[in-house]
Amino acid sequence: MKDFGKKGTLSRRSFLAALGLAGASAAGAGLAGCAPKQPTEAAGDDQTALADTGTLVETDIPEDKIIETVDCDVCVVGLGVAGVGALRSAAEGGLKVVGVEKGSKPSARSNMFAAFGTEKTRSIGIEDISPTEVANELMTQMSHRADYRITTKWLKNCGEAFEWYTSAYDGLLWLGMEDELPQDPSQLFVCADTLTSGIYRFGIDHERLFAGCCCISGGDETHTPILEANVDAAVATGNAQVQFYSPAVKLETADGQITAVICRNDEGEGYTRYRV
Ligand SMILES: Cc1cc2nc3c(=O)[nH]c(=O)nc-3n(C[C@H](O)[C@H](O)[C@H](O)COP(=O)(O)OP(=O)(O)OC[C@H]3O[C@@H](n4cnc5c(N)ncnc54)[C@H](O)[C@@H]3O)c2cc1C
Repeated sequence: MKDFGKKGTLSRRSFLAALGLAGASAAGAGLAGCAPKQPTEAAGDDQTALADTGTLVETDIPEDKIIETVDCDVCVVGLGVAGVGALRSAAEGGLKVVGVEKGSKPSARSNMFAAFGTEKTRSIGIEDISPTEVANELMTQMSHRADYRITTKWLKNCGEAFEWYTSAYDGLLWLGMEDELPQDPSQLFVCADTLTSGIYRFGIDHERLFAGCCCISGGDETHTPILEANVDAAVATGNAQVQFYSPAVKLETADGQITAVICRNDEGEGYTRYRV
């Protein structure tokens, strides 16, 4: 475990507010340490199960099996693209943050990202789109069950967020429509996804697509190298540490707030308590 660096100016509350997650219940695979969750009836008042993550839930962990307690401002449970983004953002904001992941490395399963409305996305041929137009269409497609505020926040910020995310990786190429593909097959590049043409064929397509997607290509691991560069950027601040083979198996709560995440040390012994 690394020592944490000096605490900066971002508070835990403002970090949550910036992510739009304060008070959200989507704690499981995202930000367990941050998002208060109602205790389950079975778990009692001082513990919250992680049933919605599909991870083995352990409610009776003897205190002597907890071999270490780590204090932090934020504990990010799950290092997929959301968790890694939260990890880096918290670390760069000066918070002491721990990222725990049950697998051996961060999870990157996608290569297409909605990203438009910035100079860089325009430079690769992605035309600006009205976030309101896309949000209205998505609301119709989702029978108005989605949260319009979250959807529009994402659409307004997706280009900037994508640039921030990719900026952690040195040497990424942004290819315009007329540019040649790189000779080196391992060279990572971003290009416009031309399949999303904005055309809707009534009676054939089940949804309307918008031409606002970037594709990360090159290499054979989708955007894994970029995801890992984001983890490195977080750790390089001195504020973050990450622990793999570390499934969160129990949340501890007091007065409805999460106070600690307990992880099983799959590569070692016992458990670690991350106190937030
Ligand atoms: C084949 C495939 C292709 C896809 N292509 C695209 C695409 O092109 N574009 C797109 O936008 N989306 C795509 N998606 C969807 C995209 O992968 C998800 O939307 C995205 O991964 C969600 O990111 P996340 O960080 O929220 O969750 P995840 O990527 O699921 O990350 C969650 C992480 O949490 C870990 N975890 C879970 N429980 C625990 C626990 N208790 N303790 C510790 N760790 C835990 C998991 O191991 C995982 O690493 C694709 C999905 C699949 C399956």
